[in-house]
Parts: sequence; structure tokens; C-alpha cells
Amino acid sequence: LDFLIQTDPAVAECLGEELQRQRDHLELIASENFTSAAVLAAQGSVLTNKYAEGLPGKRYYGGCEFIDKVEQLAIDRAKELFGAAHANVQPHSGAQANFAVFLSLLEPGDTFMGMDLSHGGHLTHGSPVNVSGKWFKVCHYGVSPETEQLNYEKIREQALKDRPKLIVCGYSAYPRIIDFEKFRSIADEVGAYLMADIAHIAGLVATGHHPNPIPHCHVVTTTTHKTLRGPRGGLILTNDAELGKKFDKAVFPGTQGGPLEHVIAGKAVAFGEALKPEFKEYSAHVIENAKALATHLQKRGFKLVSDGTDNHLMLVDLRSIGMTGKRADQLMSGVNITTNKNTVPFDPESPFVTSGLRLGSPAMTTRGMGQPEFTEIADIIADRLLNPEDETVAAECRRRVAELCDRFPLYPHLNIRVPT
Ligand code: PLP
Repeated sequence: LDFLIQTDPAVAECLGEELQRQRDHLELIASENFTSAAVLAAQGSVLTNKYAEGLPGKRYYGGCEFIDKVEQLAIDRAKELFGAAHANVQPHSGAQANFAVFLSLLEPGDTFMGMDLSHGGHLTHGSPVNVSGKWFKVCHYGVSPETEQLNYEKIREQALKDRPKLIVCGYSAYPRIIDFEKFRSIADEVGAYLMADIAHIAGLVATGHHPNPIPHCHVVTTTTHKTLRGPRGGLILTNDAELGKKFDKAVFPGTQGGPLEHVIAGKAVAFGEALKPEFKEYSAHVIENAKALATHLQKRGFKLVSDGTDNHLMLVDLRSIGMTGKRADQLMSGVNITTNKNTVPFDPESPFVTSGLRLGSPAMTTRGMGQPEFTEIADIIADRLLNPEDETVAAECRRRVAELCDRFPLYPHLNIRVPT
């Protein structure tokens, strides 16, 4: 970094500002985390220089002997971590992983089934603005209006009616356990493939804190940067050797060119970390902390979608306090808490406004915070949202946030100060 400061102070200054922002904000975006210094080091490495189209041992370029070693490490560790027979570690992102699976299993015009975006699904699960919704016929399912949870019998009835070729489960904003076995029985009944997108819960799955979809699904996709705490990227897993070959071809040459081997090295490091007992403990804390945050918000009178959480995230339904997600998000930003507005099931507001706020525990758990700190975070959030016009309360909330951030330093070894 010293080198960057010397050679390109303008870029170094941006990095320094972002580091400071990460240090002095409470990061509660459920899909974000802080990678280890080792992951950062692997990513910012000479591996970025190398073209390596193909797979380990079968490349289209020379000079890949060391790249092969690192990619094979990532593959082997991913297989071990999730108990899968086949892994492709090359997708540049979760969206790329999902698209490669669609390219393998569907023809344009085929029908697939996924969760509605406004109920917690992802854009890549058939939203009309995404290629998944443009090229395929999508039948969306949602959560039950009564429980705000999955109703498997309703999903089964819909699958029997719509006869999808593929069913997608796994979500961006669903706080409850997913029953993959039930999904598989529905898929089998209608002759569909079953795909689980575990982008959000991958770290919990890897450590046994959420049921593993691998034994029940034809294919599992994930991102590597959320609860799994690796570099930004995607991953495809399957137990089916023939499908595995199809997915490999769909990633390259189907949808991508040269793999990002520096990111793949970061994935290898993160998977190695996730195989250690400390990561299992970390994942247990992620869930305990989310529950502490949820319970305390409920004590302060907030309504949570589905009445709580089983995983790392929760959705606050702000209709009970007559506030929109957009306003709540702004109020949180004003006291240095980073969150995101989110639709709640059956939301009357537009996706730009929304009635919900999504909160997650992975990032601040990585900084070392535990249940007492998450209870304090719930109080800060409640104090601010319940006193939206009171600038004295806002100043006090900012002070409390700063105190928490000071007690749990982030990347203490990093120093990016551009001389003025
Ligand atoms: N799938 C799910 C369930 C997600 O929540 C996300 C991202 O938030 C993705 C896929 C897409 O991942 P990426 O942003 O890496 O493309």
C-alpha cells in the first residue's frame, strides 16, 4: 500500500477513505462481511496477471502450473467444506453462477420457478429486469400471508399446476430455515431439477448451522463473500458428475472468459479458514447475535417479518411505526449505521421506497462483537427510528456507534494515509 500511496495518491486516497468508512460505521448489511487479511493478500497478488481459460490440467494457455495448484486447492477445499463431489470455483459472482446453471439446464422459453423478489428472492431468480426473467418463463412463489414463511403445500400445488423444468430455492431476504428435502420431493413429483442458491447462508451451511442442500439438490450455487467471508465471487457445487461437466462448460466457454485466479486464490484461503473450528464458532456467534438483535428490537416494539430469525438476518417491518424503508435507511446512515431498505412480503410500497429494513449480523460478528453489543445496537436503532426528528438523539446515537467501533478495531495492520 505504501507503493500505491507513492505512485497513485488519488486512488490510494479513495482506498483510505473507504477503509475509514468501514472502520467507523456499524456494518449491518446482511450480505456483507470483512475478509481476513490473508484473503486480501491473496487477492491483491500476481495471480491477477495470468490467463488460465479451461480447468486445472486442461488449459488453453501455457504457464499455468502454479495457477493449477491454487485452483485445485480451492476446488478440493470447497468439496470438503460442503460435502460435494464436484465444484466449479470460477464464477465471477453469484449472478454468474446462477446464469451458468440456467444455461446448462434450461432452453430459452422454458419454465422455472423461483421466489418472488419482493418476498425475499434474488433478481437472478426470474425478475423481469434480469436475463433470468427475460429469457425464461417464470412462475413465482411467495411466502404465506399468515406466517410470512414458506408454505410447502402451496409451493407443491403451484409446481403441479405450472410444471417447471427447474425449481430454485434459497433467498436474499428469508430469515428462516429452508427444508431442502421437502423441495426435492416437490421437484421429483413434477420431474423438475432442484437448485439451491445458498448465497446468504453458505457459511452457516458449511458449519452445520443450517441444513445442507447438497444431498437433496441437483445443483447448489453460492456467493463466497457473505456469511462464508471470502472474496467477492461465486461457486457451483453438485454431486452429479454428468451435470458437473455441463456446469463447467457453461461457466467457460458458456458465459465467461478467463477466470480471476487471484480471486480463486482468495477463495482457497477463505475455504481453508472455513474448515477450521474457529469458523464454526464464528458461525454460531453470527446466529446468536442475530437472535439477540431480533429479540431486543421486538422488545422495543418493532415487528419482524415471520416474527424472528433462525439465521444471520432479519427484516424489520416498519409499517407498524408508520415509516418507510427509505426513510429508515436514511436515518441509519445519519448515525453511521449501514443497512439496506428492503421490501417486506406483500409490500404496498415500491422497491425504491419499501416498508422494510434488512439487518444482518455477519460483519459485526467478524469484528468481535457479541450479544451485549448487538443488544446495544438494537437500542441505538430503536432510539433513532422512534425519534426521527430529534437531532440530540441522533448525536447521542452517533457517539454510541463511535464507541462501539473504537472498541472493536478493523484491520489494525492496515494504514492508508496519503500525505497532505
Ligand atoms: N443469489 C442470492 C440469493 C443473493 O442474495 C445474491 C446477492 O446478493 C446473488 C445471488 C448474487 O450475487 P452477486 O452479487 O455476487 O452476483
